Amino acid sequence: MLNNLVEKAINKISLRDDEIDFLITHPNIEELCKAALKIKENFFGNRIEFCSIINAKSGKCPEDCKFCAQSVHYKTNIKEYPFINIERIEHVANKLKSSGVKRFSIVTSGKGPTKSDLSKVEKAVSRITELGLIPDASLGILNKDDLLKLKKAGLKGFHHNLEVSKSFFKNICTTHEYEEDVETIKTALQLGFYVCSGGIFGVGENWEHRIELALTLKELGVHSIPLNFLTPIKGTPLENMPILKEEEALRIIAVYRFLLPDKHIRICGGRHPHNLVSIPTTV
Ligand code: SF4
Repeated sequence: MLNNLVEKAINKISLRDDEIDFLITHPNIEELCKAALKIKENFFGNRIEFCSIINAKSGKCPEDCKFCAQSVHYKTNIKEYPFINIERIEHVANKLKSSGVKRFSIVTSGKGPTKSDLSKVEKAVSRITELGLIPDASLGILNKDDLLKLKKAGLKGFHHNLEVSKSFFKNICTTHEYEEDVETIKTALQLGFYVCSGGIFGVGENWEHRIELALTLKELGVHSIPLNFLTPIKGTPLENMPILKEEEALRIIAVYRFLLPDKHIRICGGRHPHNLVSIPTTV
């Protein structure tokens, strides 16, 4: 059965519910991961890709995402700072270029950028492009006009995580609607951006929610799916959440590979506590 599912994934045939259940409950995690690797190798060979980010603005976010240290709703002892200067962004991008990074993303806290932050991002994008890196950005919820400005400035990739499934979203965030996130992603896709959108796991969701998220991302047609695993942060509502077992994290990665066979799957936050450091950034 596992080999049949590998074949289906390679041929981009959607899996039935019972087949997805088979993957979720497969007793041998090693076999499951090897099967997922065959799918990855079919589409990407043994190629991996590194990307990197700079946190260009930290803290004071009005949103209440329960896992996040940057929310103004929680006391978390993080270093807060306004939008950093463009020279600093350029300096970090230049340094990372020499370590093999191809994509470099400007990340800011907040629901969306202010006008002044947006124009700083536009300037930084052209500096990153001049360095020969692919400029990406993660700036929260944006409307079409702002995304168009970024497109004109040369931005190539837009990142915006859905974080969790629609049916679980209110357990994680109550300050904006799931549809606002979905709209941002749809608009970025319509404008021709390389869109990176994924989620965070270990925040209290179950397998139904995980599959729902994967199928939403598949339906939207995003190009890249970052998978993050919760590292509980003191001061947030999820500070006492137990971290996922390594096997559970590996199963999530493998099942996502079956459901999104030809997409870039990026292993992002939580690699260290979940023992995923030996897994390449993109599998
Ligand atoms: S919107 Fe982003 S920065 Fe703000 S609380 Fe949520 S995850 Fe954190």
